[in-house]
Amino acid sequence: MPGLLTCQNTAGETVLIVGTGTSQVSAMRAQTLRAHGADIVFAGPQPISPTDGAVRFIETAIDTDKVTAIIASAGREAVGGFVDRVFVTLPSAYSETKQRLYQYCVRNRVPINTSDSAQLSTFTLLSTFAQGDFQFGVTTGGKGCKLASRIKRELASALPANIGDICDTVGALRQRLQQEDGLEGGDGDNDDDAVTTSKLNELVHEFGMTPDQKKLQRTRWLSQIVEYYPLARLAQLSIDDLTVAYTQSTRPEPAPEAAPMAKGSIALVGAGPGSVALLTIGAMHAIQSADIVLADKLVPQQVLDLIPQQRTELFIARKFPGNAEAAQQELLDRGLAGLEQNLKVVRLKQGDPYIFGRGGEEYNFFASKGYTPTVIPGLTSALAAPVLANIPATHREVADQVLICTGTGRRGAVPQLPEFVPSRTTVFLMTLHRIVEFIPQLLEKGWDPQLPVVVAERASSPDQRVIRTTLSQVAAAMEACGSRPPGLLITGYACNVIYNKPLPDDQQWVVEEGCNLDSIDLSSFLQ
Ligand code: SAH
Repeated sequence: MPGLLTCQNTAGETVLIVGTGTSQVSAMRAQTLRAHGADIVFAGPQPISPTDGAVRFIETAIDTDKVTAIIASAGREAVGGFVDRVFVTLPSAYSETKQRLYQYCVRNRVPINTSDSAQLSTFTLLSTFAQGDFQFGVTTGGKGCKLASRIKRELASALPANIGDICDTVGALRQRLQQEDGLEGGDGDNDDDAVTTSKLNELVHEFGMTPDQKKLQRTRWLSQIVEYYPLARLAQLSIDDLTVAYTQSTRPEPAPEAAPMAKGSIALVGAGPGSVALLTIGAMHAIQSADIVLADKLVPQQVLDLIPQQRTELFIARKFPGNAEAAQQELLDRGLAGLEQNLKVVRLKQGDPYIFGRGGEEYNFFASKGYTPTVIPGLTSALAAPVLANIPATHREVADQVLICTGTGRRGAVPQLPEFVPSRTTVFLMTLHRIVEFIPQLLEKGWDPQLPVVVAERASSPDQRVIRTTLSQVAAAMEACGSRPPGLLITGYACNVIYNKPLPDDQQWVVEEGCNLDSIDLSSFLQ
């Protein structure tokens, strides 16, 4: 059974290390625990080596009665003299003593760790990585500490180099929002809250907000930025990026009616659902030859990494709940300013530019200013996600039509919902955040409660998640699993063409993690 990972507060604790004084492990443990604020007592026949003045030494023979007496008396008064935890670093010759010390500690509820012996430990230490307040730990459940350390290094190397600063910046912003707006932090005080506070059924209105809703908006923006933005960029986040004043931000002067001698160029480019493997060669070329890239917040880091950093400016849309209009205008204004400076502007859009991406509006805007965009199609998530979830959207005698629609209409209203057509696969974008209120409306319109449905989130990314269930259970499944945006809902009997196992009796849904595109190695191709 895998152990429960926790983060222990050892500041001010008295920790006992028992050893012969010659083991490197004792010295290492003492150093680690001191770095975490504990007072160290070392019990053994000779002092710990190398000696550290900060360690209190109690000379004793390695004898169960003597050591247990120290366990019960060398600690803080506040806990009746017992030490707060024990580390036993004795060689294997002392196996009987180790056994007894373990039994004594368990009986007296003193946490104990015996080195190289998971059976004689009530807790074990993880292989950890730390930078500032950010930490993570790896355990293999005793299967190999070298392996754990290697995995830790691999994971650490995948993190941005400034991960400690990122935590500081986000933490400081959350604190400031809590003080200024008097609200609880949007992404929770506990790390655990990430799982429990998916506010699936709360819509954010863009217009006619009350002062309280306005306050909440900054907190929500912060949660969204933390969820969507490339990690490395979070360290530069400032309060100005979040202030409500931003919605009324002054816009650049309107551009002159037409620019007859236009030299700048604009391309609306579809970036596909996320994976670099699903970019078109046309999109790659546009990204790599741009002077400025204006990207959707949904475009993931792997794709943004293809932008030449030295040469090309990157601007990511600040489109958060309640701010879509202002953010869209900001993006258009930026594009126009670039065009007027004769720059090559690339408007990089998630999926396909013309599927729920305001691509048509953007085309008309730039065209009306005298700059006719080139449009490069992209693979839409609406069609790629079903493929990645093993769903043939059409299948002989099961589904002969596909409908792509949205669960969010103008100004956040529920749009007109489609009729139930048994031979149709329907894909709903922008729906999962309101799934709880959405499903009853489909059922009311006569949709089959037993209809197979699939939620596909972050399709094509390494953290892709697929939840297979039925229409009547999907809201409960989402509430139980939390959300991992962006995601979409696929409905129809085609969901069960390839995956055709019944759902487990005790569970109304099945969750699959990961994406098989990971196995495609593009490194040589991308050089
Ligand atoms: N133009 C985009 C869609 C933009 S609307 C396209 O063609 O894919 C944004 C919605 O797209 C999200 O709410 C979500 O429903 C969906 N979406 C985008 N990328 C996705 C992905 N990788 N996995 C699942 N859904 C995605």
